[in-house]
Parts: sequence; C-alpha cells; structure tokens
Amino acid sequence: MSILSRITGFILLFLMWPVMSQDYARMRNNMVRDQIISRGITHRSTLQAMRKVERHLFVDKFLRSRAYDDNPLPIGYGQTISQPFIVAYMTSLIDPRAGDKILEIGTGSGYQAAVLAHITDSVYTIEIVKELGESAAKRLKDLGYNNIQVIIGDGYYGLPDQSPFDAIVVTAAAEHIPPPLIEQLREGGKMIIPVGSQFMVQNLVLVEKKKGRIITRNMMPVRFVPFTRKENPKD
Ligand code: SAH
Repeated sequence: MSILSRITGFILLFLMWPVMSQDYARMRNNMVRDQIISRGITHRSTLQAMRKVERHLFVDKFLRSRAYDDNPLPIGYGQTISQPFIVAYMTSLIDPRAGDKILEIGTGSGYQAAVLAHITDSVYTIEIVKELGESAAKRLKDLGYNNIQVIIGDGYYGLPDQSPFDAIVVTAAAEHIPPPLIEQLREGGKMIIPVGSQFMVQNLVLVEKKKGRIITRNMMPVRFVPFTRKENPKD
C-alpha cells in the first residue's frame, strides 16, 4: 500500500468516525425502544445504562454490526454475551441503586458488569475462564470503568471477604442455587439466577432474603450457558 493511500485511509476513517459512533448511538436507542421498552421494561436507570454502554465494543470486530441485534452473540470459549433484553430484565429485577455493592458470576465479555457499573458504585465480577476474565478486565479498564473488579475463579463460592452484597447476578445456568451465594446476600438483598440443566428448561429465578427467610420466584424460562465447576474447562 502506498503512503498516499494509507494517508487517504486515515483521513477517511477520521472523517467517518463521528458518523460511525452516531450510528451506534442510534442503534442503541432503537435497541432500547424496540427490544426492551416494547417488552414492558420501565426501570429508568436500567434503560439509561442500556443506552449508554457501547455493546459493540464488547464483541469481536467482525460482529460489531450485529451487536445491537435481538439475540445473544458468541464471545469465544463456547460462551455468549446475553441478549440485550435478558441483560435489561435481570438488571431491572434486582433493582440496583447508587451506593449498592453488587456481585456478578460469569463476567464473559464484561457487558452486564458495565451496565451495572453505570447504575451503582461497586461491582465485583467473577469469571472461571481465565482468558475471558483477563480480556474483559482489560476492556473494562480501557473503557474507563474503574468501579469494576474482575476476579478469575469459581464463582460458586462467591467472595466471602467482600460480602454481604446488596444484589447478586448469575449469568450462567446452575443446577442448584449455590448456598455460599445465598449466604453472601445481605438481609433484604436480591439475587437473579438461571436454574436448570443444560438440556432441560431453565428458569430465571429471583431470590430474596427477607427476615432471614429465602423466597424464590420463577420469572421466565430462559436458555443460558452452563455454570461450570472446573478451574478452566479447556484444560
Ligand atoms: N455476563 C456475560 C455473559 C456471560 S456467559 C456478559 O455480559 O458478557 C456466562 C459466563 O459464565 C461465561 O463466560 C462462563 O465462562 C462463566 N462461568 C460459568 N461457570 C462459572 C463459574 N462457576 N464461575 C464463574 N464464571 C463462570
């Protein structure tokens, strides 16, 4: 490639940049309107966060144009970034507030953590696949999210040292609700978790701790990647 065509390329990219980012902003607004509000979600801070987080920066370059589609997308290692509606629904159900301390299990791309971080002050997120956790941590740091801590490990055990949490979001389907996570939920706190095996119907379960009692409610059938227990499933 000649120097001239390289320079022309850079100039074109420079000129196109505002158009491209405005396009993504428009796609995000459409996503919120057509996929989220239209399905009945009214939780204001969730809608605001979904309009802000640049979902196209959480997927591979070649998938960017599909980042605002109404479905999950692959993020490598057999894992997926959840459908936008599911992220919004789970976020609205735990009703996060400024000042809350939230734990997520299953960092994946870091997208759900970023949505939570726009609403609340401190987010801890655990990822079992080292490579995914490391690349999410780098991405979140590069994007300026300094209120998210990414921890590599088995989320089954939660983070006892940081507990209790105001809310817990689990983004992989577990066969049962991990008792350590219930333990680490504060009194009055909420947890949202898909429960069920990989090949059967899974249910999105809302868990609430009220006066020491555990109340669970099935919210909707869902399909999530499985909650794994080995340090690194690829080893
Ligand atoms: N929340 C993610 C989507 C995650 S997909 C996002 O917004 O992109 C589910 C993730 O859970 C996968 O990355 C998977 O590796 C991880 N996972 C599965 N079992 C886990 C466990 N026991 N502890 C921590 N992470 C786990």
